[in-house]
Amino acid sequence: MKKLFLLFSLSLFLACNTSAEKETKTNQTTETEKAQDSVGNFGIVIHGGAGTILKENMSDSLENAYKAKLEEAVRTGHEILANGGTAIEAVQRTINIMENSPLFNAGKGAVFTNEGKNELDASIMDGQTLNAGAVSGVTTVKNPINLAWEVMENSEHVMLSGKGAEQFARERDLEIVDPEYFYTENRFKSLERLKERNSEKTELDHDGKTAFVDPFIKDSKFGTVGCAALDKNGNLAAGTSTGGMTNKKWGRIGDAPIIGAGTYANNKTAAISATGWGEFFIRGVVAYDISALMEYKKMSLAEAAKEVIQNKNPDLGGSGGIIAIDHQGNVSMEFNTAGMYRAKMNKSGELEIGIYSKL
Ligand code: ASP
Repeated sequence: MKKLFLLFSLSLFLACNTSAEKETKTNQTTETEKAQDSVGNFGIVIHGGAGTILKENMSDSLENAYKAKLEEAVRTGHEILANGGTAIEAVQRTINIMENSPLFNAGKGAVFTNEGKNELDASIMDGQTLNAGAVSGVTTVKNPINLAWEVMENSEHVMLSGKGAEQFARERDLEIVDPEYFYTENRFKSLERLKERNSEKTELDHDGKTAFVDPFIKDSKFGTVGCAALDKNGNLAAGTSTGGMTNKKWGRIGDAPIIGAGTYANNKTAAISATGWGEFFIRGVVAYDISALMEYKKMSLAEAAKEVIQNKNPDLGGSGGIIAIDHQGNVSMEFNTAGMYRAKMNKSGELEIGIYSKL
């Protein structure tokens, strides 16, 4: 009887082992197939913010300026990828182009806080290692995305803020500028206009009619910049940089520097960068939600992005959009606002630039 039991246990052990081995092999095959799928393929997609961007409010010269800067940025990243550079490098350098332009709400063109300052946020994530870096509330770092990269690569942390982040930037020899560098007349006027309209809104609030809903935020443009890229080795990366929202107070931080909300990248799924009303993107964990729908529900990037941006985000009361690229090079540029500055380029060098809901 004892012998029989031993024999039975042995065969059970062998059977389990073989099936576990098979399962590991299948998993390995799927991972290898996925990696092979994308080897040699590459692509890049960017945004320069979403919001109430209407053709009737845009002059031809401004529209051309936006298109030219989007093209310069996307081509910069594309060239890096075409020459065998990494997705992370492409994301960082592409974002630098937009950060250095006064057209976008990031770096040079950052919006003003209620106190008339510029407080910048940024984050970057590597889809191969799931390593990430983020900074918030910096006021003297010319290119916050570079500081986010330094946090990822050269510190044991993921997120640094304010004075400490700036000290780290100096220690890493990043370019430091006088806060004056971020002054642009346009953005300052926007702050003044918003303050004026908000004083009218306060009266409405006393009526109890508009409590909790700021009609002027809903009607805003969000000029954050972001980039997602797939490199020739099948690695994904994403990054986002912003000045946040005009008239922000109390050290407010939006979704852009929050890994999982404004930025997320995972080689298993996609690289994603968001723009929009940050509070709702944080509450909806938007970038990670898209990745999770792909990973656990096996949705395609297009299906996942549509579900989150066209259903979940507006249902919560938010607005905005995302750009994303998956491990096969499929791209999504999904938004629920009137427009989103955006551009993409694939392996063959096909370029698409868009501003309004129709390209
Ligand atoms: N998402 C950014 C924030 O809430 C704003 C933007 O997209 O422009 O800070």
